[in-house]
Amino acid sequence: MEHHIAPTTQRSVRRHNLGVVLRAVAEGGPRWRATLATDTGLNKSTVSSLVAELIDLGLLAERGAERRGSVGRPGLAVEIAEDGAVALGLEVGVDWLAVHAADLTGTVRLERREGGDLRGRPVTAVLDQLAEMTRAALDELRAAGMRPAGAVVALPGLVDARAGTLLVAPNLGWNDVAVRAELGERIGDSLPLEADNEANLSALAELWEGAGRGVRDFLHVSGEVGIGAGVVIGGRLLRGAHGFGGEFGHVTVDPGGPLCACGSRGCLESRAGLEAILGAAGITGNAAPAARAGELAERARAGDADALAALHEAGRWLGVAAGSAANLLDLSAIVIGGALGPLAEWLAEPLERELRTRVLAASWAVPSVLPARLGPEAAVRGAATQVLRRVLEDPASVRTLV
Ligand SMILES: [Zn+2]
Repeated sequence: MEHHIAPTTQRSVRRHNLGVVLRAVAEGGPRWRATLATDTGLNKSTVSSLVAELIDLGLLAERGAERRGSVGRPGLAVEIAEDGAVALGLEVGVDWLAVHAADLTGTVRLERREGGDLRGRPVTAVLDQLAEMTRAALDELRAAGMRPAGAVVALPGLVDARAGTLLVAPNLGWNDVAVRAELGERIGDSLPLEADNEANLSALAELWEGAGRGVRDFLHVSGEVGIGAGVVIGGRLLRGAHGFGGEFGHVTVDPGGPLCACGSRGCLESRAGLEAILGAAGITGNAAPAARAGELAERARAGDADALAALHEAGRWLGVAAGSAANLLDLSAIVIGGALGPLAEWLAEPLERELRTRVLAASWAVPSVLPARLGPEAAVRGAATQVLRRVLEDPASVRTLV
């Protein structure tokens, strides 16, 4: 029947099968061709030909073979090439800039983080610095023989992912910044570049390799100064009509409450954001919020009454908002990450109590409250993983890379 398949279809079937084989090796580890045939249900000669193409693309390598002239020896197992594709995650945080690179096995190949409060710094200076970090990382990765397959930049605000534009980031004071274009121009590389919201990317990282693994419906609460969230439903990120969903920090919990940086009143962020908790605990000063969060945790651990009361109150507000989310979406879990992750042990109890009171179905299924497994690196990991997953879906897409 094969002669009835149109050539385009045959090519797309082959392109799809390249992904099937590459994913089998990425997920299962080094494999013989015969094992791959069993794993994938493809016949042995097809597998051999697909493996040869993946070796040619630089994505697979033969295990224990000499580097040169070793292609096509069926007796050897194949593995993910150590000098193959690598993906970059970049991040503009409120407190830091980060560059991260991971290979197809998920192994971290490079990690750079430069701290400092970015609020009030000119946009151009921040983008210059991130571009310089990215260029240095690209040089280093290429010098080690790796091939960067793309980069996603994580941003702390509303992102028009299609245009690569940051529309607004209240905590940075940025409005309408064409990050993809501006950063791409500064990096001056052919590297494919995208932009996305940090909370979405953190949620994806927790789904792929963190606390959300095996949980298909959860709310991942993250953020640094503010509160962001990623909503995962049925194992997929819920983006909404414009990609603006997940702004959990701006859910109204107290209509007459304090003014928020977004212009509204009584947003969850103004009650349970890190700045609000630190303020209530009496921890002020100019140190970066992350450092002050460390001080807050220390005080709570030592039994400081103000710190414990501030955390309890924040947990309660989080529970008020999460209870509404759970009623709407039937969630299995609330994952506490970002700057709130290290405080989860104090936030969880009042949060759970609110869920038990407020979720209608609580007698049958109350969402669990889980601390995130990843730390502040979640967004950059999610960003890099987004690129890697695309390569695993369509390995032939790396053909155009330098
Ligand atoms: Zn707000």
